[in-house]
Amino acid sequence: MNDQSPNSWESRADAATFYGFTDLPSVRDRGAVVLTHGKGPYIYDVHGREYLDANSGLWNMVAGFDHPGLIAAAQEQYARFPGYHAFFGRLSDQTVMLSEKLVEVSPFETGKVFYTNSGSEANDTLVKMLWFLHASEGNPQRRKILTRVNAYHGVTAVSASMTGKPYNSVFGLPLPGFIHLTCPHYWRNGAEGETEEQFTQRMADELEEVIAREGADTIAGFVAEPVMGAGGVIVPSKGYFQAIHPILKRHGIPLISDEVITGFGRTGNTWGCETFGYMPDAIISSKNLTAGFFPMGAVILGPELTDRLQRASEAIEEFPHGFTASGHPVGCAIALKAIDVVMNEGLADNVKRLTPRFQAGMARLAENPNIGEWRGVGLMGALEAVADKATKRPFDGKLSVSERIANTCTDQGLICRPLGQSIVLAPPFIMTEPQMDEMFTKLGQALDKVF
Ligand code: PLP
Repeated sequence: MNDQSPNSWESRADAATFYGFTDLPSVRDRGAVVLTHGKGPYIYDVHGREYLDANSGLWNMVAGFDHPGLIAAAQEQYARFPGYHAFFGRLSDQTVMLSEKLVEVSPFETGKVFYTNSGSEANDTLVKMLWFLHASEGNPQRRKILTRVNAYHGVTAVSASMTGKPYNSVFGLPLPGFIHLTCPHYWRNGAEGETEEQFTQRMADELEEVIAREGADTIAGFVAEPVMGAGGVIVPSKGYFQAIHPILKRHGIPLISDEVITGFGRTGNTWGCETFGYMPDAIISSKNLTAGFFPMGAVILGPELTDRLQRASEAIEEFPHGFTASGHPVGCAIALKAIDVVMNEGLADNVKRLTPRFQAGMARLAENPNIGEWRGVGLMGALEAVADKATKRPFDGKLSVSERIANTCTDQGLICRPLGQSIVLAPPFIMTEPQMDEMFTKLGQALDKVF
């Protein structure tokens, strides 16, 4: 419903807010959904309509929208010490405690944490760290960054260059030196007659070939999401990380795990790299880090990168990089509480408990003749729409079919995300079984209406 009268919330939203990542024809026809508040996994708009948010905001509101402990942590820290940075030898006690906690819960024995305001900035920071340390070690040519087609690492010029989405070409991106390997999605990219094992081997062979072509001594690092989130929940083919990691190690190329979505429980373990059985050299974190209650990102360096970066910094007496709000005390206080809530208040257990129901729900909906594949791990999943199930032929048309499904869901009081030809689900960890059933019932009704 789009109230186009001049003073409506829809008109006011459209008049003065420049939308990003928004299907403009849909918003023009339907009006923006202007929200006022949330309760548990539900959000409410200015007209009093209720929506079950099957996406946890943007993967991040894992404890719901009104968690009293998180609100209290924010209020207490605002009252105590509202703002500071982590530079010039001064930082808040909350920042010190969060760094200790992040190293403790990381897969690393030892390490250090650098703070940013977002996941994009954390990826930018990581790339600058790699460029800096390689140059400091006498390898200034070691600057190329390897990622994958369909990966999402952010929107700043560097992190967008790491992102492997075609829309970045409108900005003239990627920048030179950002190389995208094949997306390890067996269902979509496997060749005729190729087994999953053979496909994984092909991904590893491609990596070897790219390293040989470019020269290992020009490559700064390889950055990968354990599961591609914004790429449409692409679970890597079996054995993928086990196949590529030894190659990277052999060539001295650090492996960075971008855990902005997968960190803190989403895949059923604290980190996605645990779920997929590899040990990265650093972790990129954001989103769930504060359960969405504060914009914050972090680069968590493992022991080797910590030592090398520390040496490089000491050689010039500083690491010349940081953001005004790096290590913000309120963000750190919220993150400390969020980690406690997820790990000690049963949320991580909920992910494990709800996963079979979640996957069964997706498998049921995938019986629809126009759903080609359901995929997922933990509480992240996707249903990919196809015009022809046998050939996997996608739908064509101006408004993607996933956009139409998501719009129909919104009309029925369910928020889910269209991504390419897929509908993505990432429910909050506090979701109950009846709420999960409500989610699948509404999505099923939307599929029936659209197909
Ligand atoms: N990395 C991954 C894996 C993400 O999913 C995202 C955002 O969705 C980012 C990085 C960028 O984070 P932000 O939007 O906070 O800049």
